[in-house]
Amino acid sequence: MLNIRPILAFDDNYIWLLQHDSNPRVAVVDPGDETPVVDLLKQEGLELAAILITHKHGDHTGGVRGLLDLWPNAVVFGPANEPIASITQRVSGGERIELPWLGVEFEVMDVPGHTEGHVAYYGAGVLFCGDTMFAAGCGRVFSGTHEQLHHSLQSIAALPVDTKVYCAHEYTLANLGFAKWVEPDSEPLQARFQRDADLRGRGEPTVPSVLKDELDTNPFLRVGEPNVIEAAERYAGRKLVAGAEVFTAIRNWKDREYD
Ligand SMILES: [Zn+2]
Repeated sequence: MLNIRPILAFDDNYIWLLQHDSNPRVAVVDPGDETPVVDLLKQEGLELAAILITHKHGDHTGGVRGLLDLWPNAVVFGPANEPIASITQRVSGGERIELPWLGVEFEVMDVPGHTEGHVAYYGAGVLFCGDTMFAAGCGRVFSGTHEQLHHSLQSIAALPVDTKVYCAHEYTLANLGFAKWVEPDSEPLQARFQRDADLRGRGEPTVPSVLKDELDTNPFLRVGEPNVIEAAERYAGRKLVAGAEVFTAIRNWKDREYD
């Protein structure tokens, strides 16, 4: 069975560790810092066999070189369209990557928007989406476009509703706070806030989330819902076309007014 554990890095990053049963050959996703990864792998006698990178930002790639110094044979998957040293297998979406020692195969998804070449890895009912989507939120638009990010989120929204979503940061409570600005009367949102606040109160991660909960509460996926369109139009002060225009207004609203 595939086991997925978080390794905490910096203030709020999750580096995901993938292991099949007790097989010592493991993989990590987005190692921004090698130190906590090395500590855990050494402690448990594990061998790093693969690194999966979603995008070029330093808090997702900063540990790659240090890990390769210790495990030079690790295969490094990462986006073809971004300047990242050390990638050995460049992917841009549509490929299937096989990790037999983990007992899984991932489909690479092209999910630009946060950055221009961002990819995600989907398989075995789980999604590693980096900074494209967060629990109850989404990444900022840095080197991609709002239209791209909207379309990328819609492609994630089309995955099976029981998909477990492993994003790369613990931003959930802040994101839910903004989601309540957009949909103040949403019961699923209130319930999720309570549940996730309880988890954080116990020091537990709110990630992974389940796609069904994102579809019910994440305003960036809900840009076709009448009350979300209405809230976005109120912020923008004009009529908006459902979809990318509503998405852009909500992203701007959060960027400019919330955080
Ligand atoms: Zn990023």
